[in-house]
Amino acid sequence: MVEVKVDFARCDANGTCAALMPDVFRIGEDGLLEQLATVVEDGRADELEEVVLCCPLGAISRS
Ligand code: SF4
Repeated sequence: MVEVKVDFARCDANGTCAALMPDVFRIGEDGLLEQLATVVEDGRADELEEVVLCCPLGAISRS
């Protein structure tokens, strides 16, 4: 499993990650980002990498 971390202090809730991985990230009713999962399967590492690269604020990391 790959661990997903979000730096909520950086995030401006633009929703890019939620559009790309909606089972992991979601923009809530309050307009703020919600993290729905803290890990993803190893087979989704490339998918997660794309999300990491697409976050304009560099708020997502993995380990
Ligand atoms: S892509 Fe980055 S800045 Fe945008 S909502 Fe996701 S974590 Fe926040």
